[in-house]
Amino acid sequence: MENIDWSNLAFGYIKTDCNVRCEYRNDAWGELEVHESEFLNLHMAATCLHYGQESFEGLKAFRGKDGKIRIFRMKDNALRMQDSSEGTMMAKVPVDVFQEAVIKAVKLNERFVPPYESGASLYIRPVLFGSGAQIGVKPSTEYMFIVFVTPVGPYFKGGFQTTPFVIMREYDRSAPLGMGKYKVGGNYAASLVAGQRAHELGYSNIFYLDAKEKKYIDECGAANFFGIKDNTYITPKSTSILPSITNKSLMVLAKDLGLNVEQRAVPVEELTTFEEAGACGTAAVISPIERIDDYDEKKSYVFSTDGKPGPICTKLYNKLRGIQYGDEPDTHGWVTVIE
Ligand SMILES: *Cc1c(COP(=O)(O)O)cnc(C)c1O
Repeated sequence: MENIDWSNLAFGYIKTDCNVRCEYRNDAWGELEVHESEFLNLHMAATCLHYGQESFEGLKAFRGKDGKIRIFRMKDNALRMQDSSEGTMMAKVPVDVFQEAVIKAVKLNERFVPPYESGASLYIRPVLFGSGAQIGVKPSTEYMFIVFVTPVGPYFKGGFQTTPFVIMREYDRSAPLGMGKYKVGGNYAASLVAGQRAHELGYSNIFYLDAKEKKYIDECGAANFFGIKDNTYITPKSTSILPSITNKSLMVLAKDLGLNVEQRAVPVEELTTFEEAGACGTAAVISPIERIDDYDEKKSYVFSTDGKPGPICTKLYNKLRGIQYGDEPDTHGWVTVIE
C-alpha cells in the first residue's frame, strides 16, 4: 500500500478490501462469505441492538523480518468467544470456522499487513451478534459472525513508556457475578463515562477495584493488571475480570524467565509493595504503570519515578513482541504462520 504511512498509523479504522462473514440460521452455521461492503443489512428488531446479544474479540497479525505473516494465539480467541456465547445465550462459532474466517480475512487483505520495520500490525476484529428479530426478552434464533481487519500503528509511538492510572470508587466496570468475565460490548458501554473522567483528569484510564467490597484489584480500564515484587509476577484472580490472553502468555513467559507466578486476590494496599506494575492486553502487550492515584483517599502508589518502565516489564514486553514478530522462537506453539 503505497499511500499508508505505516509508522504513523493510529489505533483507528482504515477500510480494507473485504471482510468475512458467516450466518447462523435454522440451527446451523452456513458457509463463509466474502463481502466487499463495510455495511450490513440488519433487522431493526435484532436482539443485538435492544438486548445487547453481542460479543467481540481482538487479536493481531504481524509481518516478520522474513516477510511471513504470523497470527498470535487465534485458537484462544476462538475459545473465549465461545465462552462469551455461553454468557449471552448466543450460538457458538465453531473453533475451526473462527480460525478459517480469521485466516481468510488476513490473507485476502494481505496488502494491509504493515511491514516489519514499522512496528505496526494488522488488528483483527471478530464480532458475533444476534441478528434475528425479537421483541420479547429471549435469545435470537439467528446470528451473524463477521471478521474484519484494519492496520494499526505501534502503540508506543515515542518508545515503550509508562502512564498513570486513577482509582475512583464511584464507578464499577462489572459485577462479581455479572458479565465481566465475558468480552461483550455492554461492559465497554459501562466503562465509557469512567474512562472519559479519567482522561479529563490526565490519566490513561480508571483502575477498577472489585465492585462488591472495593478491597481488591480488578482491572486497569480494559486491560488486566499485574505487579512484580520479589522475583514474582502477581495478577488478580476475580470473577469479574476478563481472562486476557496477553496476561496468560506473560504468566508463561515470566515462568520461563525464572519468576514465580501467583494468580490470587490482590488487596489494594498491596500496591505499596510492588516494584513494577503494568496493564496488559492485545493493544499494547504491556502498558507499564507510572503510578496509581487513589482519587478518593488522596494517596498515590508510584512505580516509576523517571517515567521509564522497569526491567522485568521491559524483558517480558520484548520477549512477547519477539515471538509475535517471529524474532524469537515460538516455543509454546502460539503462532500460526500464514503460508
Ligand atoms: C480484551 C480485554 C482484555 C485484554 O485481553 P487480551 O486477550 O489480552 O487482548 C482485558 N480486559 C478486558 C476487559 C478486555 O475486554
